[in-house]
Order: sequence, then structure tokens, then C-alpha cells
Amino acid sequence: MTTPALDLSADVVDLTRTLCDIESVSGDEGPLADAIESALRACPHLEVLRDGDAVMARTTLGLDERVVIAGHIDTVPLGRRDDGMPNLPTWTVGDGDDELVYGRGTADMKSGVAMQLTTAAAVTEPVRDITWVFYDNEEVEEEKNGLARLVAHHPDWLAADFAVLCEPSSAAVEGGCNGTIRVEVYVPGKAAHSARAWMGVNAIHEAGRVLSRLVAYETREVEVEGLVYRESLNAVGISGGIAGNVVPDACVVTVNYRFAPSKSLADAETHLRELFAGYRLEVTDASGGARPGLDNPAAAAFVTVTGKDPMPKYGWTDVARFSEMGVPAVNFGPAVSELSHTDAEHVPAAAVRECERVLRAWLTGSRDGDVPPAAESGR
Ligand SMILES: [Zn+2]
Repeated sequence: MTTPALDLSADVVDLTRTLCDIESVSGDEGPLADAIESALRACPHLEVLRDGDAVMARTTLGLDERVVIAGHIDTVPLGRRDDGMPNLPTWTVGDGDDELVYGRGTADMKSGVAMQLTTAAAVTEPVRDITWVFYDNEEVEEEKNGLARLVAHHPDWLAADFAVLCEPSSAAVEGGCNGTIRVEVYVPGKAAHSARAWMGVNAIHEAGRVLSRLVAYETREVEVEGLVYRESLNAVGISGGIAGNVVPDACVVTVNYRFAPSKSLADAETHLRELFAGYRLEVTDASGGARPGLDNPAAAAFVTVTGKDPMPKYGWTDVARFSEMGVPAVNFGPAVSELSHTDAEHVPAAAVRECERVLRAWLTGSRDGDVPPAAESGR
């Protein structure tokens, strides 16, 4: 089967469907990456480069500001429709302003990729230089992440004053994201035969003290640059015991702390060590958060064009990778993030068109949000 050529002058909703119908479950992005690369190479105002199944296209106008606008082109594996069939090819429900487009990738995040592509082709004279990034393997392990690979291979491709990730955000700017740290709390005991339990110390019983600290813990809301981040602290696993007649000599409680981006990873770890003072703690996994960066002029202009209050992001997303490189980053995409990865994944057609309009208004500098005719000429 040959992959159809992409028409970047198509309606953004039609292009969303075309992109979704080219299946690209993580690891199988090749045909879609090929189609994106060749469509972008047909745009004389863009310089196009490729690394594996990631494609980068940029304007080189020598403007004062440069922004990165990025999206992943992979999806999770297909789900099932109500009738038991796979949730691709895409289908629609309703029409006009109420039209909803269903199918794998519609929300997470090919509607975002579609508005990137139509805008990349249409906006030939932006007011800020643009680097468009389309990358692979976002939905799988960290080692495979295409954006992480670009950070390692071509940090210069990602250099910018500000970055937008077109992940689903209900068409509002979602700034920054919480960090996450996972630790194992070791609770010691002393083994004994359960028939002579008084000779030992039951580590599982002792773990109750760790659990009570978690139950008593009051989670905080932390304001960072005007956005309120809600933290959370939870036991996410517990293990202990070796046999049905042995008083256990060890119990391990796994704890996950989601912390506001005003805290560094070191701050978060210190907080946990204080909370679980007296116990041995081992960090098993950690990723820093990202500040929203909304004080950046390009970001402020972007928020103004959306006409909506920015929101905090609670989960961890690839915006944190930009943050690590010193590039403030936000999420902005048409779908509702809670629908990601569900069988009922869909996106409202009107939201896709509205997000495309916002993106173009921002990049062309039209204050009222209308896209100037010049930017529309390619359509
Ligand atoms: Zn996504």
C-alpha cells in the first residue's frame, strides 16, 4: 500500500482525518513521516531536515524571535468502536459546528499535527521565525522518545525563545507541568516463625506508620507565575512477606510525589526524606517539572490571541524537555486530554479550526485574531 500524498492546503479537519487514516502506532511512523517530509519539502519557504522518523522544517528569515511548534506523530495501538470494529479509519458524528471526528489519533494528537502542517505551508511570512517539529515514539518508553533523540543529536534544531507542543489542551494554553518522583520506602523488621511472633518484628505492621504519614499528609496547591498547580502524594505499591508462616523482616512502600514546577527535583527529594525521616529511601524514577514561562513575550502574545485564561498542566509532558533546555514551553491543542488513548477518542471539528486560527493569528501578528489575506493565499 502506498501512502497518499498530503495536501497541506486542504481543510484542517480533512487533513486530520487523512493523517489518522495513515496508521502510525509507535514504531511504525515511517510512512507517515515520509508523507510529512515530502509535503513540507514542496514548500520553498521551509528548510527541511530529518532524523530517523522525526522531521524538522524551519523558516530562516533572521527574525528576532524563534518559536518551536512541535507534535508527535505516533499513536497508541488501535482501540475498538462500540460495534467491536477497530477505531480506524476515522468517522464523523454530527455536522456543521457540532461535527465530531472519531478515531485513534484524532485527539492525541493528529488534529494538532494537522494544524501544524496547514499552518507551516500557509504562513510564508511569519512575524517570528518558526521551527516545526514532528517526532516519533512519544507514547512509549523514554529511551525511544523521538524528541529526546533530537535533544541528543541536534539540540540546535530545538533552540528557541519559546515552544508550543500541540498536545490536547481543550484549545487553551496549558502552561508548564508538574514534576514526578517515585521512591521506595524500606521498612525493616525482624524475621521469626509466626508461631513465635514475639521473637520478631513485623515489617508489614510497621509499614502502617509510613501509611499513616501518607494519610495525614495535606497536599498543597502552589501558585507558579499565576497558575495554581495541585500536588499529590500517593502510595502506589506495597510489597512484603515471604511465606505464610514467617513474620516478615522487610516491607517496601512505593510512593509517587507529583510536585509543582517551582520545586527542583532535589527539593522534592528532600521533602520526601523529611517526611519519611527514620526510613531508608531510594529514588527509582524522577523527572523535573516545567515552569509555565508565561512571562516570556512570545508566550504572553500567544495567550492573548487565544482569548482564554491559561491553565496549569498536572501531568508530565514533553514540555519538560524544552524546559530542561531553558526553553519555556506550553501545550496547546484542540482536543480534550482526558479522551487520549480511549476507545471513544474524538475531537470537535470546530475546535480544530479555532486552534488553527489562533496559531495563524499569533504567527502572523494579527491582533484581532483574523488571519491576514497573505497568510490565506496558499489555501
Ligand atoms: Zn500525546
